[in-house]
Amino acid sequence: MVESGAGLDAGFPDEEYSKRGVRLASRAAVFEQSGVIVQARGPGANPERGADDLSSVRSGQLMIGFGEPLTAPRECADLASRGVSFFAMELVPRTTRAQAMDALSSMASIAGYEAVLIGAATLPKLMPMMMTAAGTITPAKVLILGAGVAGLQAIATARRLGAVVSAYDVRSAVREQIESLGAKFIVLDIESAEGTGGYAKAMDEAYYKRQRELLAAVLKEQDVVITTAAVPGRKAPILITKEMAEQMQPGAVIVDIAAERGGNCELTQAGETVVHNGVQIVGPVNLASRAPYHASQMYATNVVNLLKLMVNKEGVLNIDLNDDIIRETLVTHEGKVVNARVNELLGAGVASA
Ligand code: NAD
Repeated sequence: MVESGAGLDAGFPDEEYSKRGVRLASRAAVFEQSGVIVQARGPGANPERGADDLSSVRSGQLMIGFGEPLTAPRECADLASRGVSFFAMELVPRTTRAQAMDALSSMASIAGYEAVLIGAATLPKLMPMMMTAAGTITPAKVLILGAGVAGLQAIATARRLGAVVSAYDVRSAVREQIESLGAKFIVLDIESAEGTGGYAKAMDEAYYKRQRELLAAVLKEQDVVITTAAVPGRKAPILITKEMAEQMQPGAVIVDIAAERGGNCELTQAGETVVHNGVQIVGPVNLASRAPYHASQMYATNVVNLLKLMVNKEGVLNIDLNDDIIRETLVTHEGKVVNARVNELLGAGVASA
């Protein structure tokens, strides 16, 4: 069953589903009649509809979707109390076997690409070098801060647009990847902050202060800066202070992909463009929704691959907790929050309440 009209804005009209034997129904009917609910944004990741959905679920139902379990643990506890088994797509492990289920990477690729397009469209300059009868135009300089999945895609996109690209990350392991995409790796005289699972680890304020001091000089040269720095489950680190932005060239653009998590620039406002001393700071939210057709296609493939681990050939559900992907992705089960990190956060929340 599919909620009628759900795919329309992404370029998938209802007829495409009915042609393939899908039953279209109201949102309420889908919740009422389905054993497994698949969503893009489950409660916790859906400020508009999440609360309504919570009241529509029933005990024994499975729910799969983004749910921001590390920033919205309360909503997870609510799902547990309603007896829902919730699988958070954010928690799919970054292992080789789980790669085809990694929706965070799918969405990050789109975000990196879209951020560069926003930067190019906002910049009062052209991106590529152009030799014209009216003179030669020099290429724009683009700096990418954070070279994870989104950052690497941003590098590739900016290069395709003809910019001169450089990039920086606290994990020195990414140097090779940055260089293989034709960008320059910025070396700062600061230790690597490589954590577990390929992610950056949180560092102390003295570290971030030193990083900002060293970055300031690099920023002055740039036309477009795309910031993507994130540490899972935490507020994004501030890499560009107000003072640093003030030293940038007038006309320069910062596109802050981390806007939804507090932003990498002190001046960022999520969902808005702030103009400060001639520098534009764009804080886009839900970047993947700018390319909903491919975002849906990639997300659907990721979810189907996860479902294949849970449903056998006869169509019978089997939640095998010995499977590491199922175990790590499962947040609530049999009335309880079963994810240790979410439980820790809930404990901390209760203690500080
Ligand atoms: P992310 O969204 O958590 O963070 C984005 C980037 O910001 C990371 O590269 C991180 O190192 C960087 N960062 C954090 N703090 C910073 C700071 N203060 N200054 C500069 N940069 C900072 O990262 P992600 O895109 O989810 O990717 C994390 C890692 O996981 C990458 O190594 C990626 O290649 C890897 N990965 C592996 C698989 C797999 O093997 N299946 C799949 C996807 C991603």
